Amino acid sequence: LLVVDNLRKSFGAHEVLKGVSLSVKPSQVIGLLGRSGSGKSTLLRCLNMLEVPSGGRILLEGEEIGFETTSGGRRRPLSASRLALQRASMSMVFQHFNLWPHRTVLGNVVEGPVQVLGMAREEAEALGLDLLARVGLRDKADSYPIRLSGGQQQRVAIARALAMRPKIMLFDEPTSALDPELVGEVLQVMLDLAKSGTTMVVVTHEMSFARNACDEVVLLEGGQIVERGAPDYVMTQSENPRARQFFASQR
Ligand code: ATP
Ligand code: MG
Repeated sequence: LLVVDNLRKSFGAHEVLKGVSLSVKPSQVIGLLGRSGSGKSTLLRCLNMLEVPSGGRILLEGEEIGFETTSGGRRRPLSASRLALQRASMSMVFQHFNLWPHRTVLGNVVEGPVQVLGMAREEAEALGLDLLARVGLRDKADSYPIRLSGGQQQRVAIARALAMRPKIMLFDEPTSALDPELVGEVLQVMLDLAKSGTTMVVVTHEMSFARNACDEVVLLEGGQIVERGAPDYVMTQSENPRARQFFASQR
């Protein structure tokens, strides 16, 4: 579904991603782990062009993200409108949920499908109510975000991302801004999504989530993948000293 080939990203002279390759199959859940500064967010942001990579390629269903090849064989950046559609096919959920404060919960969820996908408002609202039910917030559809807890707001943000009918859901530490007692409800929604076959790439520090929900975990260090594989293997059996050290520090 998604192929990342030798992705590089530098900020000035600082090379943050040093050739990362990754592939994600349909319904797979990939956990991206690593210390602060290892490049996890940068990798995720490059996937949907919130950062423009310095090198390498990203293919979604065989179509290159952010670029097109002209009939003359030249590679050039995509137009803004086509890029917006590609972006919509990889919805991102951030640490800070950034809901629109002046819109209701349902309004937050339907805005993307209506504005970006051109969906009729009525259809978008029906979809929105379904998705709110899925994250357990059907009864909050007419509330404003400020009335919700952080965990509820993050679940709305997940519904909003799902409303774009993405091919892949990208999560960047979706629970790390939450009070500890609210983490569980968000992880539960993510676990349900994973079980129902949603393709997901998840940056997380929640080791139990990585272990229970991920098909594969990838350990980044200094902008390179240093270990990858089944969670049990990578987290407990790997002989790789960097993996051992990282997971020992997480216990
Ligand atoms: P954390 O766990 O703290 O979120 P991370 O693994 O997500 O860390 P990144 O945010 O990807 O790490 O950052 C990797 C490196 O890239 C860091 O050294 C950071 O300072 C640098 N970096 C990230 N974004 C930018 C930017 N816009 N400009 C310059 N440097 C940046
Ligand atoms: Mg980060």
